[in-house]
Amino acid sequence: MRTKLAILLTFAATLASAQPVTVIKAGSLIDGRSDTARANQIIVIRGNRIESVGSGTAIPAGAKVIDLSGMTVMPGLIDSHTHIFLQGEDPAEGGYDAQLLKHGLAYRAARATVSAHRALEQGFTTIRDVETEGAGYGDIGIKQAIDEGRIPGPRIFASTRAISTTGGYNLEGYAPEIVVPKGAQLVDGPVEARKAAREQLDHGADWIKVYMTHRSWVDDAGALVSQPTLTVEELKAIVDEAHGWHRKVACHAYNGPGLQRALDGGCDSIEHGLELTDAQVAQMLRQGTWYVPTLSVYYYDLDPPDTPSGRRDRKRVAVHGVSFTKALRAGIKMAFGTDVGGFVWSDPIAQEFAREVEFGMTPMQAIQSATSRAAELLDMRGKLGVVAPGAYADLVAFARNPLEDVNALRDAEFVMKDGAVIRSPAGHPAK
Ligand SMILES: [Zn+2]
Repeated sequence: MRTKLAILLTFAATLASAQPVTVIKAGSLIDGRSDTARANQIIVIRGNRIESVGSGTAIPAGAKVIDLSGMTVMPGLIDSHTHIFLQGEDPAEGGYDAQLLKHGLAYRAARATVSAHRALEQGFTTIRDVETEGAGYGDIGIKQAIDEGRIPGPRIFASTRAISTTGGYNLEGYAPEIVVPKGAQLVDGPVEARKAAREQLDHGADWIKVYMTHRSWVDDAGALVSQPTLTVEELKAIVDEAHGWHRKVACHAYNGPGLQRALDGGCDSIEHGLELTDAQVAQMLRQGTWYVPTLSVYYYDLDPPDTPSGRRDRKRVAVHGVSFTKALRAGIKMAFGTDVGGFVWSDPIAQEFAREVEFGMTPMQAIQSATSRAAELLDMRGKLGVVAPGAYADLVAFARNPLEDVNALRDAEFVMKDGAVIRSPAGHPAK
C-alpha cells in the first residue's frame, strides 16, 4: 500500500511540474482580503492555480512572464446577481414580454452566450446567474459549454428557473383565456414548492432562486408596498430541500411582509432588499443572512414622475441607498450584485462600484464585496476572490488605480480565468 501511495505521489508531483508556469509581475496588488494594496508582487501560477505570491520570489526557469508592473492587479471580479438570458427591458424592443413571447430559445441562447462573454471581457470571471426568465434550464447549457471550453465565459453558479406563486410573476395582464409563458416556475403549497426545488436541483441548479415579493407600488401615505408571494411554510420546504443538497437559496425581496417571510423561512441571501427595517437588519445579523443589494439598475428608465409606476420607481431609488448604508453600518455580510440583464450587457457592470461608494463603502470594501466576500457567499472562500496560494488563477488588471477612483474598474486591461489569458493590454490597447 505504502509503495503504491509513494508511486502515486511521485506521479502527481511529475504531473504538477509538467503544468505550464506563468509569472505575473504586478505593479500593485489588491489581493481581495487585505485592507491595503502591496507594491511590486510576483504571482506564480502553475496550471490553473496560484502557487505563490510575494515580493522577493524568484522567477522559475521556463516560466512565461506577463509584465503588469504598470498596473493594479486583483482577483477576478464576481457579480452575485446577473441574468444572462435577459437583454435589458427596452420598451422599444418590446420590453420584458417580447423576450418570452417572440424570442425562440436558440435565439435567447445565442444572446446569452454573448452576455456571458461580455461579463468575462469586463473582468467578471465568476457570476451567480439568478434565473433564466422563461428560458428553462438554458443557463446549465451555457455553463456546460463554458466549462468544456467551447465558448468563452465566466464561471457560472446557475439557478435555472426560479420559483414564485400563482399571481407572483410575469407574464401577466393578458386575457385570462390565453395561456402565456411565465418567467418563473409557479407553485402553490409546500408540496409543489418542494417538488419544484427538487426538479431544479435534479437538473443542475447550484442555487435556488425564489421570488418573495412581486408587485410593488406607493400607497397614499407615500410608503413602498410590496405584494408578498410564498408563505413561510412554502419557503421552508424549499430551503429544507436545498440545504439537504448542500445548496443555498437566494430570495428576491423588496420589503415588507415578503422580506420578513424570506428571513423567517431561512433564506441564505436577500436580493435587492430595497427597504430593511432595523429589526430585519438585526435578524439578518443574527441569522448570518447575506445581503445582495443592486443599486444601479433602479436608476434606469424611470417612468414619468406623475404616474403610479413613476412614483414607485423613484421610491425604490430613495429607499435602497438608505438600507444599503444601514446594513453596512450594522456589519451585515454584503456581496456585489447588479441585476445586469435588467439593463443591457453593453453597459459597464462595474458602474455598481461607484454606487456602493456613494452609499458608504470605501473603495477597498467595494472591491472586497465583489471578490472575497462574494466568494464566501458562493462557499468558495480561498478558491475564488483572492490572490493567494491555492486559489484559482482568476485575475484582472487595471491601468488606473481603483482605490483612487472605483470607476477605473470599468476598464479591465487584462483578464485571466483559470490560468488562461482572456485579454491582455498588448492585444487590446488602452482606450
Ligand atoms: Zn434579478
